[in-house]
Amino acid sequence: MLDLGTLHFSSAVSRGAYLAVFLVLAVRQREARYLWHWIGAILASLLGALVLFNNPIDEQLPVWVSMQLFAFYMASLVLSWSGLRRFYGHNLHWPALLILIVLPSLVCLPRPWLNLSAHTTTLVFFMCAALAAGLVVVEIIRARSERLWSQLVVALAFTGYCASFLLVVLLLQFTSLQVSSKTSYLSMIFDQVTSILVYVGYIAMNGERANLKLRQQADTDPLTGLFNRRGIQRMLKERPCEGAESEPMSVVIGDLDHFKRINDTLGHEGGDVVLRIFTERLKSTLRRDDLAVRWGGEEFLVVLPHTDIEAAEVFAERLRELTETHPFQVCGKSLAITISIGIAEVERPAEHFNKAIQQADKALYRAKREGRNRVCR
Ligand code: GH3
Ligand code: MG
Ligand code: MG
Repeated sequence: MLDLGTLHFSSAVSRGAYLAVFLVLAVRQREARYLWHWIGAILASLLGALVLFNNPIDEQLPVWVSMQLFAFYMASLVLSWSGLRRFYGHNLHWPALLILIVLPSLVCLPRPWLNLSAHTTTLVFFMCAALAAGLVVVEIIRARSERLWSQLVVALAFTGYCASFLLVVLLLQFTSLQVSSKTSYLSMIFDQVTSILVYVGYIAMNGERANLKLRQQADTDPLTGLFNRRGIQRMLKERPCEGAESEPMSVVIGDLDHFKRINDTLGHEGGDVVLRIFTERLKSTLRRDDLAVRWGGEEFLVVLPHTDIEAAEVFAERLRELTETHPFQVCGKSLAITISIGIAEVERPAEHFNKAIQQADKALYRAKREGRNRVCR
């Protein structure tokens, strides 16, 4: 089996390796300030590992060494927590963080004069450590809307840390357990496994979020925030049938009338403002499952699940009215704008979606030909 010295050595070496990886990430992603907190966390635990490496745990550790050890390990946990808060865009309360880091060390300080036993200070350390690990778990639970699978790995690891620290508190308090080379050996093995989950989990969280962001950017129109063509194709692949095959589904294609004139009179920026205002109105008409797409320049597609052609016509008429009856306020001018709309029902199976789009497109051109500002099917 591995001896304690080897474990301490490998713990320090692996933390050194993580440090190198995180430094590269932090230099490449300057806006990701949370990475510096996690670098601080790794550095602190590396220093803690080095202190342990130089001071065999068998002996009663001198006060000064205990203080260093507690401060480094608390800093590691607290910086993990502060990094997560930054990752999720929350504020930091530095005084509270600092107090949590130095508290166990401060309790060590008067140990010789107050005749406090190492046992008591160790107990305080493990209680503070359990609190810090628990705070990390709470932070991740509160941020579950991020839907990152990798954050579950980190949450699992810190739940393990928190539970093991609490277990140590209970054992120290209610049994005759003493910190020894045996307990140290077990905790080193546990820490080796858990720290891998934590640091690899952080790297995965960083990558998973970047991937999701890239995918979202690729699927979204930057001007309106609606899906683009690519986005809707992916959505339809992921939610192909939108309910049972027997459920109706319709598509609506709207095209703003004489949009070129708006650009000609108010400039391209004025045209952009109209597109944004129209998008807000369109969104206000949508139900939760409806999908809105910027189909082309001033062309919009709406996919209406659970909707037959009659209901789609009611929806389209409401959108047309909403566009016509409320003038658009752009660059200090009040513009009367109308929209022509084509609708079609998607024949089942849902693979006939593209055919329905062609039908709606034809209906749209009929609406244009017949004088604009109308709905055709
Ligand atoms: P119709 O009633 O027949 O649809 O006429 P229209 O002028 O709306 O259609 P046309 O296809 O002639 O012109 C569309 C214009 O939309 C031309 C293009 O410059 C403009 N456009 C396309 N994308 C954007 C955009 O992102 N912003 C702005 N401001 N204009 C855009
Ligand atoms: Mg147009
Ligand atoms: Mg057009």
